[in-house]
Amino acid sequence: MQLADAKPVIQAQSLMKRFGSRVVMSRLSFKIYAGEVLVILGPSGCGKSTLLRCLIGLQPPDAGRVSMLGADIYGASPDVLDSVRRRIGVAFQDGALFGSMTLAENVEVPLSEFSDLPASTRRILAMIKLGMVGLGEALDAYPAQISGGMRKRAAFARAMALDPEVLFFDEPSAGLDPVTSAGLDQLLIRLNQVFQATLVVVTHELESAFAIADRIFLMDQGRIIASGGPATLKKSTLPAAQRFLNRQPEEQSAARLMDVLIAKAAEGSNRR
Ligand code: ADP
Ligand code: MG
Repeated sequence: MQLADAKPVIQAQSLMKRFGSRVVMSRLSFKIYAGEVLVILGPSGCGKSTLLRCLIGLQPPDAGRVSMLGADIYGASPDVLDSVRRRIGVAFQDGALFGSMTLAENVEVPLSEFSDLPASTRRILAMIKLGMVGLGEALDAYPAQISGGMRKRAAFARAMALDPEVLFFDEPSAGLDPVTSAGLDQLLIRLNQVFQATLVVVTHELESAFAIADRIFLMDQGRIIASGGPATLKKSTLPAAQRFLNRQPEEQSAARLMDVLIAKAAEGSNRR
């Protein structure tokens, strides 16, 4: 896809947010374009989920603006916001399915909320959406009866209930085994290709990010420290980017801690 030809579906301007003294969004400005798979990648706690919630209108920033599908998210009337919400889908990190409802009933929730479709049509649409994520045989299962990977798929189906133009995923494969996780990556790529939906995916998983992304924003401590396609990002010479991309932070700090402990022990034995 040529980004130069695509139109922005989301524009963030100087987003700022802090919790106490902790800055979780530090003057973030960017555009996300129609049809792309944009991955927000970074270590745990760097502010990814806060940014995602801010983009979809659930977490007002301390300063800055979000424009999505032409609407000013923190300045629009409730009616306008409602119409934007109909055009987006969100799958949160924990899936957040309703445990007392079957998978089909879960997928029908947004259809009941945002449409006047009769029950029979809602049911058919739920069947189609669950079929698309490979759960056509599990319509009447309850969330507790299926695996973690299946729950994620069901959450994807629910996010797609209204045929959204923009889909948001928070850690779509966190906590799953590598095979299931790779399967979900493939599913995301298919959703993007078949439905031409714009995908905004938050993850801390490098492999997944590089497998699915057209573009990556690499976040560290509330800032976007590097951005670009996977190939560009791999070439980034920024130390913070290199540390994250080479999975070094934990090993390094563990090694540093070991050095300190060894030095202390040596000091102690010298004194004795
Ligand atoms: P990520 O998704 O990258 O792991 P988050 O956006 O969830 O990071 O959180 C960024 C930082 O902000 C973390 O230190 C987290 O503890 C803190 N944080 C998130 N939400 C809140 C909140 N509602 N109140 C206070 N601190 C929060
Ligand atoms: Mg998170």
